[in-house]
Amino acid sequence: MKNIVILGAGTAGTMLANHLNHYLTVKDCGITIIDEKEEHHYQPGYLFLPFDIYTPEDIITSIKEFIPN
Ligand SMILES: Cc1cc2nc3c(=O)[nH]c(=O)nc-3n(C[C@H](O)[C@H](O)[C@H](O)COP(=O)(O)OP(=O)(O)OC[C@H]3O[C@@H](n4cnc5c(N)ncnc54)[C@H](O)[C@@H]3O)c2cc1C
Repeated sequence: MKNIVILGAGTAGTMLANHLNHYLTVKDCGITIIDEKEEHHYQPGYLFLPFDIYTPEDIITSIKEFIPN
């Protein structure tokens, strides 16, 4: 069985995993995603942190929320 490895589970990696998930079945191919972090950072939110519009809790979520089973 083939296995696709995605390096980085940021914006590009999670989008790619979700797109591939629509076209591949587990029988066809596995998908492995590698990242050094377990949290996803919504980077545009960084701009609002200094002004107390967002808190870190608003922009940091678990990567697992964006990755299909
Ligand atoms: C302040 C700010 C504001 C922004 N505003 C906008 C906006 O308004 N609109 C817009 O379209 N874009 C905006 N961006 C840009 C957008 O956030 C990035 O273009 C996008 O996140 C890039 O996606 P990526 O997947 O390439 O990288 P990232 O989302 O950064 O993901 C990279 C992933 O790789 C992982 N990684 C890196 N090195 C390693 C390693 N050695 N081993 C394991 N894992 C590793 C990281 O942990 C991370 O999860 C903004 C960025 C910033 C910083």
